[in-house]
Amino acid sequence: MTEIERHAYDVVVIGAGGAGLRAAIEARLQGKKTAIISKSLFGKAHTVMAEGGAAAAMGNVNPNDNWQVHFRDTMRGGKFMNSWRMAELHAKEAPERIWELEHWGALFDRTKDGKISQRNFGGHEYPRLAHVGDRTGLELIRTTQQKIVALQQEDHAETGDYESRLKVWAETTVTRLLKDGDRICGAFAYVRETGKFVVFEAPAVVLATGGIGKAFKVTSNSWEYTGDGHSLALLAGATLLNMEFVQFHPTGMVWPPSVKGILVTESVRGDRGVLKNSEGKRFMFDYVPEVFKNQYATTEEEGDRWYDDPDNNKRPPELLPRDEVARAINSEVKAGRGSPHGGVFLTVVDRMPGGAAEIVRRLPSMHHQFKELADVDITKEPMEVGPTCHYVMGGVEVDPDTGAAKVPGLFAAGEVSGGMHGSNRLGGNSLSDLLVFGRRAGLGASEYVDGLPERPGVPEAEVEAAAAEALAPFEREGGENPYAVHAELQQTMNDLVGIIRKEGELQQAIEALGKLRERVANVAVTPVAVGDDGRGYHPGWHLSLDLRNMMLVSEAVAKAALERQESRGGHTRDDYPQMSADWRKVNLVCSLAGDPASPHVELKRQPMVPMREDLLALFETDELKKYLTAEELPADVAAEP
Ligand code: FAD
Repeated sequence: MTEIERHAYDVVVIGAGGAGLRAAIEARLQGKKTAIISKSLFGKAHTVMAEGGAAAAMGNVNPNDNWQVHFRDTMRGGKFMNSWRMAELHAKEAPERIWELEHWGALFDRTKDGKISQRNFGGHEYPRLAHVGDRTGLELIRTTQQKIVALQQEDHAETGDYESRLKVWAETTVTRLLKDGDRICGAFAYVRETGKFVVFEAPAVVLATGGIGKAFKVTSNSWEYTGDGHSLALLAGATLLNMEFVQFHPTGMVWPPSVKGILVTESVRGDRGVLKNSEGKRFMFDYVPEVFKNQYATTEEEGDRWYDDPDNNKRPPELLPRDEVARAINSEVKAGRGSPHGGVFLTVVDRMPGGAAEIVRRLPSMHHQFKELADVDITKEPMEVGPTCHYVMGGVEVDPDTGAAKVPGLFAAGEVSGGMHGSNRLGGNSLSDLLVFGRRAGLGASEYVDGLPERPGVPEAEVEAAAAEALAPFEREGGENPYAVHAELQQTMNDLVGIIRKEGELQQAIEALGKLRERVANVAVTPVAVGDDGRGYHPGWHLSLDLRNMMLVSEAVAKAALERQESRGGHTRDDYPQMSADWRKVNLVCSLAGDPASPHVELKRQPMVPMREDLLALFETDELKKYLTAEELPADVAAEP
């Protein structure tokens, strides 16, 4: 058999984005020997692409902000499908995590009186996003990486070895979690440069692998987002929650085709940008749904006044939660009022008091992105934008306090985990989620390791099976081309499981995915001239292995989307256009069933845990009635005529 390296750790963190780095820092601070594994280069994760900021109710710009208001906004944004406990922990702990980041060296933009500045974003009642221009994620990663280096220097001073307690395995892809009986005992990976296999022996694994966007054709996500963590969890026997909720960000670039899907940050709208159709109309005023009627301006004048006087005016509807704006754009385009390349117009021209210079100062990346990629100067011309697959709210079912998944020894944090954002994530809530729940998962994994009477062993059969699976694409002759299969999978998901869904199309998608599953199991590649046995830097081989993951998550999304007969947040059913209070009580839980060599996704309906009374009391009665069934309302409210 091919040579396999082995390394032992207490905690293995898969993923080096914000969630993974924060989890690893915590595990190391708890004294655990920790590995960080990342399939991309260290420093290249989705987190670096985050532009707008990290939401935390610090109250620096508007002192009325506090955790209760943030909690309310998050629950409203998620249309009450959120794990309320996660939303509570997130709202309470986010400010502390931001201050901690500053303490570790993050250089946030400041208010005039020297506090961390906070900006407006869709669905947030007050300016709440701590930011660094439109490059906040980059600063988050820079700071957490710097903290990791500082910890490694401490370890070197004590042990003479920088990597004695914290080692980064960059460009190393995990393809299987390993189990000893029902417990996690490690992970199996290959090194991208050489194709060599590595076994990481560890009693606790934290998944922090991010999202699933590459299962869709038009996406803001980059190549790493192939649903690996979601699929690794399923294959290890864990469960996924509410996978039907996929966020289509309203504003991705639509032109030129080579960059279709690349994100246009919501900060553009937070910083006075407005959406217009081909008739020049600010159409969002026509799309304020009933549940949000009291919170949004009804005239352009009031919406515009809000930027300078938010206490006495209502916010403009361009700042509705993302799902609402994405659907509105979709409707305008369908009605024939779109831009030349199939989107709508987003403009900041003449909207900022400081003119063009202020646009460049506040939105440097957007100015650069449009100039370089589309030859559009956003200080003079509008941008063309349309919906793009951006974020998955569904994910690994975890214990809110510890991040523990349903398999002992497995933890998850960040975008790969489910529950926190309900049916729709508010912008800015991801970066703070990574810090809050990354820390909690690192702590949860460490405490789990401390509580073990003995470490699990790694059964040889598990390793052999993982190696055989990884090598299989080289063994097949005359198999399928992985790129062709991937393109079909993406097209199927985009066309049939996209922003607007229908029963017939979802059934068609599930049928098509069934056929694609057989083709995925038959993808074949030939060795290239680099590395061990021609496996070094072999993109076709990497994609062949990623396809299994995209297949499983696509099946989970399509089946859950067919099951949920209502429209809510990131799940819009043309045939069930209303939100249903009865469906709100149902979590859809995915697990794997059938032949382990070719498992399929199975769905179970699981009742939602009722919200604690003190949290319910934070909402007005009339608002609760929009979301909850009569039995769920507090007794005194339900009894009202
Ligand atoms: P990531 O940062 O994506 O990290 C995932 C890590 O897992 C990577 O290191 C990857 O290499 C690794 N990995 C994946 N699979 C494997 C495997 N099999 N083996 C080994 N390693 C693996 N959110 C906000 O709150 N505010 C914003 O302003 C904002 N702007 C955004 C802009 C863009 C363009 C995008 C795409 C997203 C934005 N988001 C924003 C969302 C937010 O950036 C992401 O949800 C968040 O960064 C995810 O962080 P993470 O730590 O979960 O995963």
